[in-house]
Amino acid sequence: AGNLASLSTDDLQRFYAAANERYTAFKARGLKLDSTRGKPSADQLDLSNGLLAAVDEAEAKGGGDLRNYGGGVNGLPQARELFAPMLGAPAAQVVVAENSSLALMHDTIVYALLKGVPGSKAGWSTEPVTFLCPAPGYDRHFAICAQYGIKMIAVPLTGTGPDMDVVEKLVAEDASIKGMWCVPKYANPTGDIYSDEVVERLAKMKTAAGDFRIFWDNAYAVHHLTDKKHEIANILEACAAAGNADRAFVFASTSKITLAGAGLALFAASPANVAWMTRNMGFRSIGPDKINQLRHVKFLKDFAGLQALMEKHRALIVPKMNAVLDVLAHELNGRGVATWTNPDGGYFISFDVREGCAKRVVQLAEEAGVAMVPAGNTFPNGNDPKDTNIRIAPTFPALDGVKLAAEGIALATLVGVAENELK
Ligand code: PLP
Repeated sequence: AGNLASLSTDDLQRFYAAANERYTAFKARGLKLDSTRGKPSADQLDLSNGLLAAVDEAEAKGGGDLRNYGGGVNGLPQARELFAPMLGAPAAQVVVAENSSLALMHDTIVYALLKGVPGSKAGWSTEPVTFLCPAPGYDRHFAICAQYGIKMIAVPLTGTGPDMDVVEKLVAEDASIKGMWCVPKYANPTGDIYSDEVVERLAKMKTAAGDFRIFWDNAYAVHHLTDKKHEIANILEACAAAGNADRAFVFASTSKITLAGAGLALFAASPANVAWMTRNMGFRSIGPDKINQLRHVKFLKDFAGLQALMEKHRALIVPKMNAVLDVLAHELNGRGVATWTNPDGGYFISFDVREGCAKRVVQLAEEAGVAMVPAGNTFPNGNDPKDTNIRIAPTFPALDGVKLAAEGIALATLVGVAENELK
């Protein structure tokens, strides 16, 4: 065989029949595999079992009695110190919040819609609002925009961040563009790592909206999978140097460092933005869970401790990533049916099948017992205009399950694309 596009119709028929036979046999095994969300596996969670009992009674009572209200909304000072290097901001500009950075991003958008941000004349919702959405991207970012009627414009990613020619032109012309989503390192799902040039152009670009904000979701800041521990330029410093100190809201969390959904959400920004944020947060809550913050301080100790923990995650994730990459290469190389990423960090492999085939491939994979996120999910409004992108999430299942899921996806791809060729 070889590239499907170069096969005669007869050869393609034979190829399809053989692939379909294997696919049908796979399906008959009645497997239940999960390649949906980027969740840590149970053995990754076990790495943080020490967190569960990291604080004893004396510690909880110490430092102003953390069992009670008090201390304000911006978090425990030791926790703000601990995460400052990860966020690239002085501790005074770091907020340590509750258990979900997504919730923090959601609330930030709601505050902006209702009240505006520093520099706004009114709440954003008094006029149409548009966000730029580098795509493929994180479906839940796009879902927040959809929920609140924010128009989304997809912007292509290049491997080193969004296509800045497109971004600069759009933000300069359209004053309704108030925000932009960025996952600047090991992006979900493409693995993009924003180059220094991209960071600088984002910081410097002229925006028609005077109160434009970058939502810098650095969810995978320390989630390296190779020895190349990529560092990216500091967006807060770049914005300040460009005279746009208030342009960036930086988010992160420990969901994929300690416990997913039971970790800490983090925020950093300019002093004016932090004052704005904590003022808004103060209406919503008297303060975050300080005991969980202290648990994280005791358990992680310092930034070096956090980085050491990330090495243990890496050791568990890399074999699964490699298993998927091996299966895809073995089954699909040279067929011209798909391309995929080999990320240096993060949680995902971004898998692009032949145009117009992603929905069908996901359907075939699902029918064969491999649960996938719907095709199109990685684009605003679930609309992948080329119907090509599929997100593979290999971290959650055990290694055997990961291999089988990859096989199921590969077989679904061969069948789905061959079928499309024969149309
Ligand atoms: N941001 C990105 C880019 C993610 O991929 C995820 C989880 O998959 C989140 C945020 C969610 O983080 P949290 O658990 O802190 O809400």
